[in-house]
Amino acid sequence: MKIERFLKAEPANIAALTKGYTYQHNHDYQIMMVKTYPLEDTTYALFPQKTNKYELSEFGKEYQHKIKQEKFIPQYSAIIDTILWFSPEEEIKKRILTSLCESDFFRIWKPEAPLQYFNNTRNAYIILFRVYLMRSLFNLSTVDQQTKQTASRITHFKLHDPLENIIFKPVLPDDLFQSKKEGIIEILKRTAPNQFGLYQDKSKYLEQLNAEYLNQYSFSKEEKSNIIQISEEVSLLSITDTEKESIVKTRVGQTYFRSKLLEKYGKCQLCEIDDERLLTASHIKAWAKSSNEERTDLNNGLLLCPVHDALFDKYLISFKEDGKIQISGTIPQEKYLFLKIDINSKIEITDYNRNYFKWHLSKLL
Ligand SMILES: [Zn+2]
Repeated sequence: MKIERFLKAEPANIAALTKGYTYQHNHDYQIMMVKTYPLEDTTYALFPQKTNKYELSEFGKEYQHKIKQEKFIPQYSAIIDTILWFSPEEEIKKRILTSLCESDFFRIWKPEAPLQYFNNTRNAYIILFRVYLMRSLFNLSTVDQQTKQTASRITHFKLHDPLENIIFKPVLPDDLFQSKKEGIIEILKRTAPNQFGLYQDKSKYLEQLNAEYLNQYSFSKEEKSNIIQISEEVSLLSITDTEKESIVKTRVGQTYFRSKLLEKYGKCQLCEIDDERLLTASHIKAWAKSSNEERTDLNNGLLLCPVHDALFDKYLISFKEDGKIQISGTIPQEKYLFLKIDINSKIEITDYNRNYFKWHLSKLL
């Protein structure tokens, strides 16, 4: 079994998934909450990250304490077993999450935490993982930090070198895992019949879920016509193209692109800056050179921190066909560090954004 990705989540969460404390206490969750989109259906190595303590219950804090003492060893992997989707309607979410809490699921969090977590979301997914103990370990140096993808608080990364791991043994015996899973499904059936979906035939349903996810990241008809209207207004102004670009960046980028890109990426696409106040949304292909269709295509959007935005905007950095950074020869190498230029930077090029990046690369200084 090959493992190419790893999953980072709160230590208490990972502890609940792995260490078996929960098993002893008869509370093994083997679940994770993912609010914005379902995770890719693959095998993940598990690794804990910092926890937002305020959401943990006393029980959860106890886990966290244990994990700190024991120095968590990354020796667990997880495979998606089932994806639960439920209606994003506030009333339904509340009903489902409250009854799951009352039935002692999510015990590592404070009862109000799951609800807060799904607050104002358009999607609500709970993923049930089957967790296994692996034979071999991995360390963080094998992680490709550029390939971070986020599903809200859970982030997953690509490993430089896939782990050729033999899945060792499941943390929970089959019958116990099945009964826990059925327990969750029962609660959903009881509290919100017809308001939830169950995806167990993963090949088909993940495809479907991903299609929904992609749709979510496009503009509605109304948003599109607003963007075109702003574009037309700005193009009539008797100012230079550069000045027009900057107005459009504020009115279109910051209004329409930003919130969607924030939801999708949550941070600068080139570094770890995630303070929303510092993130700017830009067009990859300049607005002035774009058709109306390109102006209203979210794939033409990019979310960057101030330094990376300026570098990209001024054509001092761009990205090649394979996504790797191309740095302008006008920048001396010794300045890279100060300008936050990392020669290993990589961006995800897809069929949807390839031509925009191609255009941008042709403008590199
Ligand atoms: Zn950045």
